[in-house]
Amino acid sequence: MPLVGFGIWKVPREKTAQSVYDAIKMGYRHIDGAYDYTNSKEAGEGVQRAIADGLVRREDLFVTSKLWNNYHKKQHALEMAQHEVDTWGIGYLDLYLIHFPVSLAYIAPSELRWPCFWSDPEQKQVTAIDPTPVSETWAALESLVRTDANPSGILRSIGVANFSSQLLHDLLSYAAVKPAVLQVEHHPYLVQAGLIRAAQAAGVAVTAYSSFGPQSFVELGNATARDTQPLFSHQVVVDIAQRHGRTPAQVLLRWATQRDVIVIPKSNNAQRLAENLDSFSFDLAAEELEAISGLDKGLRFNNPAALGSLHIFD
Ligand code: NAD
Repeated sequence: MPLVGFGIWKVPREKTAQSVYDAIKMGYRHIDGAYDYTNSKEAGEGVQRAIADGLVRREDLFVTSKLWNNYHKKQHALEMAQHEVDTWGIGYLDLYLIHFPVSLAYIAPSELRWPCFWSDPEQKQVTAIDPTPVSETWAALESLVRTDANPSGILRSIGVANFSSQLLHDLLSYAAVKPAVLQVEHHPYLVQAGLIRAAQAAGVAVTAYSSFGPQSFVELGNATARDTQPLFSHQVVVDIAQRHGRTPAQVLLRWATQRDVIVIPKSNNAQRLAENLDSFSFDLAAEELEAISGLDKGLRFNNPAALGSLHIFD
């Protein structure tokens, strides 16, 4: 699994096919999408064109998508995984994640035209919780994983996102197919050292999302993000970047990958995409890694509790 991927949340639908194509041309081999991002079809078109043009073979790519919260029941999980594979149109997915450890009331995909936590187009009504055990969802996804006994499986691996260490340990206690990946919010303001240690010790790879902390949430009008010192201008990060002749973004990504945490930064800008991909050819000293980890404040930006009723992390 390539250590640097291209995350496509908030990549505008009309630009997604070209962005994904350009990212592959630039050297990206790992694309992180989700049903919730509403651009899987276009992302798949970009991948298909890159393959047709001979830039890459399907087996060189690592494509991730995610199961949204309204589809945790067995039948829905099976249908939505198949739907996502069909939508991408590239034969199979390399990784399929349970997007959040919360099961919400079913809304037919034809009616859910704004995949998110809302159940109305005005985005006032948070969808009610309709509990489904993770074990039910997991067993459904396990049945889709390609194995010798199931050679037509449409998923190469499965995993989870936004899980706590307790939930991960519980899942590991019964999983016949072990989760390959745990994807969580991870940046210097939310280090989650224990969670990462627990996952990696259990052989579960960790992927960081929102590696730049508040940056991704400022554009969503998130007040906490707006009131937080940007990591890009934090003196600790800036000083280290200057010492290495690198950008703060590259330092933030290297801080993660040097600790075996995979990153999937998103950008709509070609120069930044290139900069993010080129964040390997230097190493941070142990005391620099520690100084960056020392910025931790347990500050989470992607928290549905902010909507009023969905307490997942607290
Ligand atoms: P991110 O940390 O990648 O930040 C994106 C922001 O940083 C954008 O505003 C972008 O313009 C800016 N940026 C990117 N590269 C830059 C650079 N080199 N210099 C300066 N600015 C730069 O945030 P993200 O999009 O929230 O997270 C990355 C990916 O993680 C998403 O696209 C998505 O695929 C995934 N994700 C998953 C979940 C989940 O619940 N599993 C949640 C959020 C994001």
